[in-house]
Amino acid sequence: MAPDYDLVVVGAGAAGLLAAVAARRLGNTVLVVEADHLAGGSTAVSDGQLWLPANHLMAKLAPDSTTDAQTYLDALLGPTTAASSAERRSAYARTAAKLARWLTQSNVPLAAVKGLPDHRPDLPGGKPQGRVLATSPLERRVLGEWAASLRPGEGGGRGGLRRFLPGRRTTQTAGEALAGHLLHRATANGVELWLDSPVVGLLAEGNTVTGVVVRRASADHPVTATRVLLASGGFEANQGLREEYLPLPTDAAWSTSAASNVGELLNLAIAHGAATSGLDDAWWIPVMRAEGSAWSLDEVRARPHCVIVDSAGDRFFDECAPANAAGRALYERSRGVRAVPSYLVLDNRHRQTVPLGPWPAGSTPRKALDAGEIVKAGSLNDLAQALGIDRAGLLGSMVRFNGFAGKGKDLDFSRGEGVWKGSAGEHGKRRNPSLGKVDKSPFWAVKVYPGDAGTKGGLLIDANSRVLGTDGAVVPGLYACGGAAASLFPGTSPAPGAALGAALVEAFLAATHRQDA
Ligand SMILES: Cc1cc2nc3c(=O)[nH]c(=O)nc-3n(C[C@H](O)[C@H](O)[C@H](O)COP(=O)(O)OP(=O)(O)OC[C@H]3O[C@@H](n4cnc5c(N)ncnc54)[C@H](O)[C@@H]3O)c2cc1C
Repeated sequence: MAPDYDLVVVGAGAAGLLAAVAARRLGNTVLVVEADHLAGGSTAVSDGQLWLPANHLMAKLAPDSTTDAQTYLDALLGPTTAASSAERRSAYARTAAKLARWLTQSNVPLAAVKGLPDHRPDLPGGKPQGRVLATSPLERRVLGEWAASLRPGEGGGRGGLRRFLPGRRTTQTAGEALAGHLLHRATANGVELWLDSPVVGLLAEGNTVTGVVVRRASADHPVTATRVLLASGGFEANQGLREEYLPLPTDAAWSTSAASNVGELLNLAIAHGAATSGLDDAWWIPVMRAEGSAWSLDEVRARPHCVIVDSAGDRFFDECAPANAAGRALYERSRGVRAVPSYLVLDNRHRQTVPLGPWPAGSTPRKALDAGEIVKAGSLNDLAQALGIDRAGLLGSMVRFNGFAGKGKDLDFSRGEGVWKGSAGEHGKRRNPSLGKVDKSPFWAVKVYPGDAGTKGGLLIDANSRVLGTDGAVVPGLYACGGAAASLFPGTSPAPGAALGAALVEAFLAATHRQDA
């Protein structure tokens, strides 16, 4: 009997929706099943930036080529590994530009984000800007009957530039716009989408995956397909899996990602013989907790008049470091001294001028102070006491740091130097955009946790996004991409937008892979 669909996609984030559109455009019948009652996944709450090297929109910003992209990946990633194979790197470098053009031609409007460099523009093939793209805003009403079925974003992201937009927005930006554009393309082009429909099992004949079991209205339905693509995100919302695989301590409450990413498909695929890689890794991002959510500190920590210290009161990394490196730094530090949590210490100039978590600049609710979400003190000495951290350590660190800030040069961690670091901080006012003394009372502090924007390990895939078994052979019929797959960039990140860039490239490769090729 013929299968019900040519392709069943599990998960309606950017990766799943893009694969669905691409496969549909090739004439396939496609069903997307989504566990949540809303489409969009973590993508919708993300900043929506895509790292697509050699794209056609960057010509005026920086000359680029597939060769440069490949050179950069090899220089950054070093020796190849099972997840970061030569074939996958090459597929990424070749496909990124093609995908950018395909998105534009598919009415998903893109623009290059000016001034955003690779994380290591100093490496061979690295670029100072142009490789990071973002989608144009989207009017929610164009989604028609699906308008209410798109997960709302955060007005620029809990993870990034929160914009404190008043009232109800009708124009979607950032990751919400990306997911919205793809949802629109999918539903307008004949992709079938079932919401509230978690996949709870895989169908198989021998080693070959032949479909999925979908739970709808409390009943389980088998759905057969020639191919199954797992685009079901990572396991960041599953505390049990976090404790099993990620460095400790860990807490699902530190993740800025979608609560519906519980990693069920990871377990199902493992039970079917799939190989995994990098399950101890995540897209690390230092966060604070307030009002029941995790909030990225990326914008905050790069600004002048703040530092991050461990429980000994010592600084231990460049506060301007890219998110992934900064998050890892907390775990690395905690091998020697308690650094989870660490503490972001800021002076009143910072608090008066920079939004922090849910709080606008200059406004810190009493209830946040009472709940201990933020601590305030008249002196650094009192602040250390209130935090329960080493007073002498903190005072010594601040004397040293303020000396560096006065001279505009951080001799310990080179904060605010270099092309990447120079893109953060406060421009136009100072020699070093992220260095400013922490010496104006009152002083403030929040706890800093090694949060994440999703887990990074997952199912091992080949250059066509086919899942590989523990025996090294392809698992017939089964593909994975994005958060569900083991990242091509273990232990590092090439640039902002690398997670979504890779998710979309892998989805595109899966959707366009010819099984008979
Ligand atoms: C705040 C924030 C900001 C970020 N900003 C960026 C950025 O600017 N650039 C970047 O590259 N990355 C960014 N990221 C990371 C990026 O959002 C993710 O890596 C990306 O969205 C993953 O896409 P995906 O399609 O694989 O997964 P998701 O978008 O998470 O979609 C997975 C979907 O699968 C569904 N699902 C899970 N289990 C099942 C099941 N059993 N059955 C059916 N459906 C299931 C989920 O409900 C979800 O809708 C950010 C992340 C966060 C949290």
